[in-house]
Amino acid sequence: MKSIDFCIQYLLDYNNAELPDDLSKEKALRTLMNITTPDNLDSVFYKEQDKALQEILSKKKIVELSDLKPVKGKYYIYVGDITLIKADAIVNSANKEMLGCFIPLHSCVDNAIHSYAGLEVRRDLMKMLSENPSYQPVGHALITKGYNLPSRYIIHTVGPTVFGRNPTEENINELRNCYLACMDAAEKVHAGSIVFCSISTGVYRFPKKESAHIAIKAVDDYLKEHPESTINKVVFNLFNENALDIYKRAIEEI
Ligand code: ADP
Repeated sequence: MKSIDFCIQYLLDYNNAELPDDLSKEKALRTLMNITTPDNLDSVFYKEQDKALQEILSKKKIVELSDLKPVKGKYYIYVGDITLIKADAIVNSANKEMLGCFIPLHSCVDNAIHSYAGLEVRRDLMKMLSENPSYQPVGHALITKGYNLPSRYIIHTVGPTVFGRNPTEENINELRNCYLACMDAAEKVHAGSIVFCSISTGVYRFPKKESAHIAIKAVDDYLKEHPESTINKVVFNLFNENALDIYKRAIEEI
């Protein structure tokens, strides 16, 4: 039996779930992973899941940091899917439970990262958070391994949610704290490179333009305050080209 078929059947039984008929195998696996609470998965499942995810990854093009040109100094921009870049650490814009997105096939970055890294990530976060299972504070960061992603580590941070038309002072400080906490977390594992997704600029509605300036200033301040930092490549990841010029200009201005 192929690994992906084994995993789909295993998770259907584990969750006592049903799937629509028209899903591809990759989407069926992702759907089932999204809804799974991994408190009792056996090691055979993880082995087969890793094989299935590695096979899926082998059909995609991995982006190496050497494929990117710096915009200025240590700063790079990568337009594309964060689950396909190979770095020491990538940043996940997590939700307040910090256990990944449970909505099947949801388009958020949290869902993509958990789906392609594997259920080990949710399992590890559950363990880490077991002593304090309430909502995680905005502006902090937790680190897990990257498992089946090309990158070694995932840094999970909860960004601020913007409720009104414009971000509040508190939202702005919280977003800055996310970037600083992620730099700190990356430094703790001696990462040389970190790739930031655009924290809070999707479902959490932080305006992209303002967030670009906050992100770049926070990281630049961090590196100026930590001249011995191990981090020598900082990549700002955008999912599409909409904010590309804003990022380029903001980097050139620092
Ligand atoms: P938040 O809840 O923090 O707003 P979202 O996932 O909704 O998180 O959006 C954060 C940013 O991540 C958005 O700019 C969105 O376009 C981007 N994004 C979504 N999926 C991916 C992905 N696979 N790779 C990189 N960026 C992504």
